[in-house]
Amino acid sequence: MGVHSGGVICLPRLRFGPAGYPAEAKGKVEQVFSILTRSGLNALEYAAVHGLRAREDTAAEIGRLADQYDISMSLHAAYYISLASKSMETRERSKSRLKKALRFAPLMAVKRIVFHPGTRGGLPEEEAQVIVRDALNDVWEAAGAESGGAFLSPEIAGKIGAFGSEEEILRLCQELAFCIPTLDWAHLYARSQGKVNEKRSYLKVIDQFESELGKRFVDNMHFHVSGITYTERGESAHRPLGEHWGPDILPLVEIVREVGYSPTFISESPDPLKGALYVKFLFDELEKSEK
Ligand SMILES: [Zn+2]
Repeated sequence: MGVHSGGVICLPRLRFGPAGYPAEAKGKVEQVFSILTRSGLNALEYAAVHGLRAREDTAAEIGRLADQYDISMSLHAAYYISLASKSMETRERSKSRLKKALRFAPLMAVKRIVFHPGTRGGLPEEEAQVIVRDALNDVWEAAGAESGGAFLSPEIAGKIGAFGSEEEILRLCQELAFCIPTLDWAHLYARSQGKVNEKRSYLKVIDQFESELGKRFVDNMHFHVSGITYTERGESAHRPLGEHWGPDILPLVEIVREVGYSPTFISESPDPLKGALYVKFLFDELEKSEK
């Protein structure tokens, strides 16, 4: 499903790509896009995880190449965003980072700005929820109109102590029409101590987001995948996909095929390009076996 139909209606289609530039591109922007295309990939999550430092002309070049190569772009905002931080200064700086990302989005052809809301700042869950929600409203009020239709996409956190449980992310998206969730399946696996690892539990998560958010979720499914290790506090380290670390991603791939969803899979494994190719390989193999 999902090819351009007559140039009029453009249905979402399955997409695969790495988090960050492939190492093989050696930081050269044009190389990034040609390597992705040659590898059969069609998505890229631009890593601004240490802050968005791209110059405007580079950002515009990224946007131009993304359109030219038909690579769908998301952007991962800074790791140190913390919207409910104890420090008011950190809260304000976090908002500024998201505003900057929104303003850069149209230049870079970015449609999804992925971010971790941060800690709960030692606050009760309900209070943290309201502070994060209000902060995102402030961000959107200031810069949403300049975003070129990009969504803010809060991510499910791998650490149990961080803001970003399934319920917290869902509630943000219910309350804020400019948000879509980033479902990080490795983080869900780590948070659930390995329980979210098979078809039934995957379906339960997807069904919940679909029934609460409907079309906004289904048309903009954004998944992070990788292997992961965890402790009782949640995530400890990202690992390769398709080796002996969980989660098992095959049941997720089967669901996507059976229902006909069109998520974008962003691989966050230690070699992100290889991880993206692995997910694509699973789809290709399933398709072959069904013929
Ligand atoms: Zn992630």
